[in-house]
Amino acid sequence: MGRLFRTRGWSAPLLARRHDFNPGCFSRNVLEETYSQRPLKGKESSNFSQGRSRSDYEGIQFTAVVQKHDGLFKGILGHRSLMSVEGSRSRHFQVGLDRLQSEQTRKFSAEASSDESREVMEYDVVIVGGGPAGLGAAIRLKQLCQEKGSDLSVCVVEKAPEVGAHILSGNVYEPRALSELFPDWKEQDAPVKVPVTADKFWYLTEKRAIPLPSPFNNQGNYVISLSQLVRWLGAKAEELGVEVYPGFAASEVLYENDRVVGIATNDMGIAKDGSKKSIFQRGIELKGRLTFFGEGCRGSLSETILKKYQLREQVQAQHQTYALGIKEVWEVEESKHIPGYVLHTVGYPLDYRTYGGTFLYHMDNRQVAIGLVVALDYKNPYLSPYEEYQRFKQHPSIRPMLEGGKVIQYGARTLNEGGFQSIPKTAFPGGALLGDSAGFLNVPKIKGSHTALKSGMVAAEAAFEALGKSEQPSMEAYWTALQKSWVWQELKSVRNIRPAFHYGLLPGMTHAALDHYLLRGKIPFTLRHGPSDHKCTEPASKHRPISYAKPDGVISFDLLTSLYRSSTNHEHDQPPHLRLRDPQIPESVNLPKYAGPESRYCPARVYEYVTDENDKMKLNINAQNCLHCKACDIKDPTQNIQWTVPEGGGGPGYTVM
Ligand SMILES: Cc1cc2nc3c(=O)[nH]c(=O)nc-3n(C[C@H](O)[C@H](O)[C@H](O)COP(=O)(O)OP(=O)(O)OC[C@H]3O[C@@H](n4cnc5c(N)ncnc54)[C@H](O)[C@@H]3O)c2cc1C
Ligand code: SF4
Repeated sequence: MGRLFRTRGWSAPLLARRHDFNPGCFSRNVLEETYSQRPLKGKESSNFSQGRSRSDYEGIQFTAVVQKHDGLFKGILGHRSLMSVEGSRSRHFQVGLDRLQSEQTRKFSAEASSDESREVMEYDVVIVGGGPAGLGAAIRLKQLCQEKGSDLSVCVVEKAPEVGAHILSGNVYEPRALSELFPDWKEQDAPVKVPVTADKFWYLTEKRAIPLPSPFNNQGNYVISLSQLVRWLGAKAEELGVEVYPGFAASEVLYENDRVVGIATNDMGIAKDGSKKSIFQRGIELKGRLTFFGEGCRGSLSETILKKYQLREQVQAQHQTYALGIKEVWEVEESKHIPGYVLHTVGYPLDYRTYGGTFLYHMDNRQVAIGLVVALDYKNPYLSPYEEYQRFKQHPSIRPMLEGGKVIQYGARTLNEGGFQSIPKTAFPGGALLGDSAGFLNVPKIKGSHTALKSGMVAAEAAFEALGKSEQPSMEAYWTALQKSWVWQELKSVRNIRPAFHYGLLPGMTHAALDHYLLRGKIPFTLRHGPSDHKCTEPASKHRPISYAKPDGVISFDLLTSLYRSSTNHEHDQPPHLRLRDPQIPESVNLPKYAGPESRYCPARVYEYVTDENDKMKLNINAQNCLHCKACDIKDPTQNIQWTVPEGGGGPGYTVM
């Protein structure tokens, strides 16, 4: 039998040292407890049973999920430990997938390790992505099971080392969907505590801030950390019996007869050169009667599904368009902190042809979320979203708000901007697309967490009905129900606001004001988007380089300092997850024609042009810095970069984003 225990990244050795941890022993204990002393609860038939067990081993909480099939046992062991890092902060670490073995299964395991076939776990519903959309679907499914007295097995795989650690958002939160899911969310202590108290909107010139009426209507909304709300949702899902597996990256869609039948997680322990390391472990297949993809914006598997089933073409949807958000969370001086204060700006530092804006939201605990969103259809390849953000913070109206404070966290993530025009068909044989994977973000509001949650709930309701009717259920009812839901109405009513900005900032703002105050989305036509974002980048010869000021280390920072604050961590010795379709393109096209734009739009300095031993410029890819924002997958001018999932558990470690 191979290794009983596998760990990820740097957390595992620490964990082992601090707890004098013997993984092999731990596994056997779990096995004996789970298999021998407790009956399996859950699905049962004469030759199949499935159950889960929560327990505590020397202060380490773990969940074991076990399937017994024709007398053989298979299982997943997930466990976390609350531990302190460098004596100051606490973090949870999810540390492992374990292939479990009991006395009865020794034979099975020996066979499995020799032929290297993948283990298969079966569920009613497999959900990829533990964001608002995926968790909303999982929770609603289990709520329906409770209401109707039935049982469905539901699992969620999440690539982050813990639920919420890859979630980055503004976030001013509209609680409509949350109130539908948990009418008593306040009593249940949801981390949604700071009501919006001021809603400001400024037009910035280089030196001045001109207040305008706010178009955002944030009354009744809350300033939150979405990363924290998602952690809370993850705990609620587990309480209801959902099997949540952080640290597992879904890397492959499984098909049978043209129907999606689940996903596979990637193999772990493969070295950069493709050889197997001593800790090699085959991925597992998670098969579902239905599979949902809630991977967020530009989901890597969702994109393959969109293409395979031509989900846009089926409903004549336009292509998706995107923006990149760069964000920090600051801790500011007490005297400058106004809980619930919300500010949006347009104008400086972006030029009038570049769509975007900034946000500044006061959370609790003196924390302020501040960020810049830049539409990725910008033309000038010399533009650096990261540097534009540094410029914004130096504006005379913004800088004083931050002075005396310190940065707690940094990160970046793309968001959908296509809106209503770009919604693809969301149902396909064997499953559905949820949330930002389908593109439900309301662009003028910059809000998508409420629509993501709602789309997951609508999908769950359709799935619950369908699973009761057929062994191979259809999700067509989800597509129909979605079109009758408030998500559809909301996105339809604002469909023309973003495309109007193709005519420039002032025409766009004039149209937005008319639409918002007078027409209220009732214009009887729908504006089209411009070309896809990657096609909008113009040759460098048409533009002049932008000169950005050096960071002062007080308000503005160099990129590596910022990156450190994202807690990004990847196993270094693994195959590159950023793949070049043609390795020559960076040097033959991107550099001479576009002046190497990937070295500027990437908010983590993953792409760097360096001189090689022959004095030629060559692209160096520092994949371990990747923040999983997906900007390169979207903006590369020739679509030569493909973002794929790295080993599960790698990536940023957000806690307050
Ligand atoms: C800068 C910025 C500001 C924003 N401001 C606001 C705001 O103020 N209010 C608001 O409501 N919304 C805001 N949004 C939008 C909001 O964050 C999204 O609409 C929302 O998070 C979408 O939820 P989701 O569940 O679809 O996807 P996500 O929240 O992105 O969650 C997807 C999850 O799936 C996981 N995942 C992805 N692929 C895989 C895989 N292959 N295997 C396993 N796991 C995977 C990811 O790690 C992630 O945890 C903002 C977004 C950004 C970027
Ligand atoms: S490599 Fe791509 S996905 Fe990763 S941080 Fe850079 S732009 Fe974002």
